[in-house]
Amino acid sequence: AKGLIDIRDLVKEGSDHNQDRIPFRLQTQAAGHAVRANYLYAGVADVYAETGDASLLRALKAIWNDVTYRKMYITGATGALYDGASPDGSRSHSSIQLVHQAYGRPYQLPNITAYNESCAITGLILWNWRMLAITGQARYADLIELAYYNGLLSTISLDGKKFFYTNPLGRVDELPFELRWSRWREPYISCFCCPPNTVRTIAEITAYAYSISDEGLWINLYGGNELNTYLADGSPLRLKQQTDYPWEGMINIILEDTPQKEFSV
Ligand SMILES: [Zn+2]
Repeated sequence: AKGLIDIRDLVKEGSDHNQDRIPFRLQTQAAGHAVRANYLYAGVADVYAETGDASLLRALKAIWNDVTYRKMYITGATGALYDGASPDGSRSHSSIQLVHQAYGRPYQLPNITAYNESCAITGLILWNWRMLAITGQARYADLIELAYYNGLLSTISLDGKKFFYTNPLGRVDELPFELRWSRWREPYISCFCCPPNTVRTIAEITAYAYSISDEGLWINLYGGNELNTYLADGSPLRLKQQTDYPWEGMINIILEDTPQKEFSV
């Protein structure tokens, strides 16, 4: 993965579309195809975890601020724009560089025509999971929760049979033009990435619910469940969350089997 970051930095005439217009370590803004972007940022966070290369974390934190405060919907969805051109232009007018399902300019977040591919929501979760692991900061767990419960869950119908590919924030009955993708959940999507990615990520939610450090247990996500685990020093811990979250806000945490020494929850 480190080699891949270095290779992409050698691209001479890259574009915003693939996040290779400038070397990764110089980037401070999210640009281009949001699925590729979020997966790239997740991969870069993995490389930081292995290497401790501070220049990677510096870029990730700057991009995270740009995404979180300027380019993300209230649902955790990203990649607002269907199509366009790299907003800062290209070298030649005859070869305008396209962007597609792309991060736009700050606050360029249309509701009715939002692209917001479902896989970009999964990508945001994957990226923030890694940011949480390498920094221990709650802001990243908050985004995991936001995207899981507001962005990802709504991509699938309650009966589990229909899926959104794009995730607009609102819908009007008639548009004066036709969009490329359905504005409704569909049982079959020819771009077949989203349905399996969504169900896989929902099935994996238990892996995101808790973290363990030397200090104790961290509850990242609320939801009814039972935890049977070991703290970092090997002492067993068993607890139960009783709640109807996210439909109800009340959460009871019942500690059932705890270590003899003090620990934090
Ligand atoms: Zn997809």
